[in-house]
Amino acid sequence: MDFTPNETQKLIQNSARDYANRVIMPEAAAIDREERFPREILKGLADLGLMAVNVPEALGGVAAGSVAYSLAMQEVARACASTAVTMAVTNMVGEVIATFGTEEQRQKYNPRLADGSFAAGAFALSEPEAGSDPGSMRTTARRDGDSWVIDGQKQWITSGAHAGVMVVWARTGDRESLPGTRGISCFLVEGGTPGLKVGKAEDKMGIRGSNTVGLTFEGCRVPSSALLGEINGGFKIAMMALDGGRIGISSQAIGIGRAALEESVAYAKDRKQFDRPISEFQAIQWKLADMQVELDSAHLLCMRAAWLKEQRRPFSREASMAKVFATEAANRICNRAVQIHGGYGYTREFAAERHLRDVRVTTIYEGTSEVQRIVIARSVLS
Ligand SMILES: Cc1cc2nc3c(=O)[nH]c(=O)nc-3n(C[C@H](O)[C@H](O)[C@H](O)COP(=O)(O)OP(=O)(O)OC[C@H]3O[C@@H](n4cnc5c(N)ncnc54)[C@H](O)[C@@H]3O)c2cc1C
Repeated sequence: MDFTPNETQKLIQNSARDYANRVIMPEAAAIDREERFPREILKGLADLGLMAVNVPEALGGVAAGSVAYSLAMQEVARACASTAVTMAVTNMVGEVIATFGTEEQRQKYNPRLADGSFAAGAFALSEPEAGSDPGSMRTTARRDGDSWVIDGQKQWITSGAHAGVMVVWARTGDRESLPGTRGISCFLVEGGTPGLKVGKAEDKMGIRGSNTVGLTFEGCRVPSSALLGEINGGFKIAMMALDGGRIGISSQAIGIGRAALEESVAYAKDRKQFDRPISEFQAIQWKLADMQVELDSAHLLCMRAAWLKEQRRPFSREASMAKVFATEAANRICNRAVQIHGGYGYTREFAAERHLRDVRVTTIYEGTSEVQRIVIARSVLS
């Protein structure tokens, strides 16, 4: 067993760390405060190849693999969770198109996602009435001559107002003969397509620099070439994409948790009470120790899932295990970080407060913790 990153992985990790430390981290508090979509920072990530880490070079990516992607994501999330989730979804959209797209679709969209010509990609699965249960979605796409016409509503779409291309799921089969997840197809819709309306940005607890919107499709016409994959085969694409996406969100949570731990260590060494640094109190030391144990455990679970994906072996259960553990552990870690900072941790003066708000969503999106446990239990019982 070798835990040392190879040369490519180290290169990607180091360039992500350097950019995160130099450019992203100094802006993170302002991005949060101003709810600023960090367009220039995202372009910088694209220039480093970090918007298409696991996409073939022929399509503009750096083909560095899933482990390298996870390491890069951790570095970016350690600096700014909002930037990280935008990067995560864009990478996921690029991978979906590279994996399931026709050559024409790949050539049309992958290079632009990779080089930052598109500020971001978006993944439009959830709806107001269909979250954990995407099989209950109501958005439809009907064939009309050489086009598809999409009608319906999507909810919670990350980067929906900025995306150059969105992967959109819609019902193409009739509910009677193809109920639930069977009659769903997948389409590539460009930002600004007539008939696509972007709703107002959600006023969120955290990741306030990431854009989250509802989308309304009213007679939104796309060419027949916009169908991604097989007709009525869209659900499989969504599930495969989300398996990979869960590695991304585990990595995001680990990055946020790492920032919280590092800041807690620095604060505990600096802050004095009862004439000594609080780091000398065992109550604080044990919190720090637990934070480190949980972070390392999360990292190992995440690395295993990423490695399996890279080996093209089944990784669905492992990705869910990584996600449920890493995101819940990171929530505990960020909560402890606020405790270690005392009253100051409850103010915007210290990043611990932002980390706790940012990390909260990680147990919710890309499948809630409850949904991950369903996936794991099914596998355990099978
Ligand atoms: C900031 C943000 C960004 C997002 N970005 C995107 C995006 O880019 N694209 C996208 O498509 N979606 C996105 N989402 C949506 C996200 O994936 C959903 O919020 C999530 O899947 C949960 O769906 P829901 O909110 O409708 O909750 P619900 O499904 O209504 O769940 C509510 C509660 O019930 C629980 N529950 C539901 N079913 C079961 C069950 N069978 N057993 C046990 N418990 C259950 C859930 O775990 C949860 O605790 C985003 C959400 C947020 C908050």
